[in-house]
Amino acid sequence: MSQKRAWQDLPKGAVSYKSSMDYKTGDWGVNAPKIDYDKCIKCNLCHFFCPEGAISVRDDETPEVSLDYCKGCGICAKECPVQCMEMVRK
Ligand code: SF4
Ligand code: SF4
Repeated sequence: MSQKRAWQDLPKGAVSYKSSMDYKTGDWGVNAPKIDYDKCIKCNLCHFFCPEGAISVRDDETPEVSLDYCKGCGICAKECPVQCMEMVRK
């Protein structure tokens, strides 16, 4: 019979969310999102969907991408509801 364990019980390293805060992974990617701020509706879905925590939210609620951490996966651009993020070469 298997025993239930909480994620907090997992060994260190088993949970990788936001691991790039410790490792600057921006050099791994070729592309990064470019934001058209005129179209941005400040929904911040890009911030929540970024698996690397590379998108922060400014005081005025607009998103800001850190090239130090962005791996260029394109998830944010795919999830943006108004398609104001375009993946471009760094
Ligand atoms: S998902 Fe798109 S519209 Fe929403 S905050 Fe990010 S860039 Fe702006
Ligand atoms: S391209 Fe990927 S890693 Fe870069 S900001 Fe968007 S979701 Fe995050």
